[in-house]
Amino acid sequence: MEKIPTLSYIRPFVSTRNACKLCSPLGACIAIKGIEGCVPLIHGSQGCATYIRRYIISHYKEPVDIASSNFSEETTIFGGENNLKTALTNVINQYQPKAIGITTTCLSETIGEDVPLQLSNIRNDSSNSNLPSLFTISTPSYQGTHMDGFNATVLEIIKHFTKKMPSADKVNFFPGFVSPADIRHLKEVFIDFNIDAITLPDYSDTLDNPVWEKYYRVPKGGTPISELEQIGSAYASVELGSFTEVKQGGKNGGKELSAATWLENEHGIKNHKTILPIGMNSCDTFFDILSKVSGKDIPTKYVMQRGRLLDSYADGHKYIFGKKAVVYGEEDLVLALCSFLDEIGVEVALAASGANSGKLQKEIIKHCPEHGKSIKVMSDSDFEQINEECNLIKPDFLIGNSKGQYIAKNYNVPLIRVGFPIHDRIGGQRVNHLGYYGTQELFDKVVNAMIEYKQNNSPIGYKYM
Ligand code: SF4
Repeated sequence: MEKIPTLSYIRPFVSTRNACKLCSPLGACIAIKGIEGCVPLIHGSQGCATYIRRYIISHYKEPVDIASSNFSEETTIFGGENNLKTALTNVINQYQPKAIGITTTCLSETIGEDVPLQLSNIRNDSSNSNLPSLFTISTPSYQGTHMDGFNATVLEIIKHFTKKMPSADKVNFFPGFVSPADIRHLKEVFIDFNIDAITLPDYSDTLDNPVWEKYYRVPKGGTPISELEQIGSAYASVELGSFTEVKQGGKNGGKELSAATWLENEHGIKNHKTILPIGMNSCDTFFDILSKVSGKDIPTKYVMQRGRLLDSYADGHKYIFGKKAVVYGEEDLVLALCSFLDEIGVEVALAASGANSGKLQKEIIKHCPEHGKSIKVMSDSDFEQINEECNLIKPDFLIGNSKGQYIAKNYNVPLIRVGFPIHDRIGGQRVNHLGYYGTQELFDKVVNAMIEYKQNNSPIGYKYM
C-alpha cells in the first residue's frame, strides 16, 4: 500500500476551523425526542435553542419544538431558577407533556447553575402539583460533542425512569445515534426474532412522521414511559456502539458508563455490545447476538438478505477495489464504515472525527484486522484539517455527512452522504445504513458513485457495463 505523507499538527492556531462535531445539547435533544410525550427544554440563552432547532429541522424535515429558559444579562448574573420555572410553566400549559428533558448549555454550566437542586425546589413547591416527569442532563458543549450529549441523555433517562419491577420477558435495545429508517428496520428485525424489545431512544416516528390531518404539538411515537419503567427488569440488553460510555462525576467520578453498562452493574442485566452493524462481518455479529438472545435461528428473510449482499459484493467488486476513501463523522459511524469499506476492498486513507475518546485508532485496528494499521486516524479534527489531508491523499470519494461537501467539490470527487446532518439533500432521515438491508443500500451507493464518476469523466461514455 502506498505510504501516505503526513502533515505536522503543530499549528500556529488554536481555534477550530469548521468543526467536525456538533453541540452537546443538540445530541441530548435528539435523544429526548425519542421518548413518548417528552419535550426538550434548553436551560440557557435563546440562540442555542434556535441553532439546535434549525439544525434538526433541516435534516429531518419535520417540525421540532425546542423550548428555552431564555437567559438574559440579568439571568447570567443572578441565576436562572426563575427563568426555568417560567419556562416549565409555559411548556406545561402549551404542550401538556408527559415529561420534560432539561439540558444545560455552555452558559448555564459556566455560571454554575445547579439544575437538579432547582428542579427539587420546583417539585417541593406545593403550588406545583401534577408536574410531568422532569429530568436534567449536564451538557456543557465545551466538554464534549453531540454524541456525549446523546449518550449522557440515554443514561440519564434510564437512571430517572427505571423502577424496581418483577422480571419481564423483554430485551433492552440501545441503537445509538442512527437514522429513523435504521431504527424502524432494526425494530422489525427484533420482531422477526420474536424478541419483545424496549428500544431507547426511539425517534423513528417523532422525527419522521407521516403526513398529519391535524397538527400535533408533541408528535406521536417514542419509547413509552411505561416501558422505560420496565427497563431494569429485562433479561438482556443489546447495545450498538463502541463509544457509548460517558464519564461520571460525583461518587462515580472517573468511571465511564453507558446506559447498558449501568444496567449491568445495577440490575445484573447482561449487555451484548457490538459495533454498528454495517458490512457483512459486523452484521453477522449482530445477527448472532440476536440468535443467542432469542434462542432462535436467523429468520430466512435475513439469510436471503445476507446472500443477496454477498452476491452484490461479487458483482460490484471490480468497480471499487483499491479505491481510496476518506471517512469522517461520529466515532461509532466512522468505525463501522471503516470495517465495511475494508471488507469490500476499499482503501480507507483517512478516518477522521471531531470527537476525541482516545480509542478510535485501537478500535479501527481491532475491526479492520488486515489494513487497520495503515489507516490514518485523526481525532479531535476539523474539516479544514480533513481538507488539507485530502490534498495529500487524493481520495476517490468521501463518505460522511453533508458538511464535507465543499471538500468533495474542491477535489472534484463524489461525496456519499451518510449519518447526520444531511442538510443539502432530501431524505437524510430515511437513509438506511444498518443490517444486511442497510449495508446493501450503502454498497450500491458506493459502487454507483464510482461508476457515475467514471461515466461523467469519460470522453466517450458508455451505455453498458
Ligand atoms: S453556546 Fe454552547 S450550548 Fe449554545 S449552541 Fe453554542 S456550543 Fe451549543
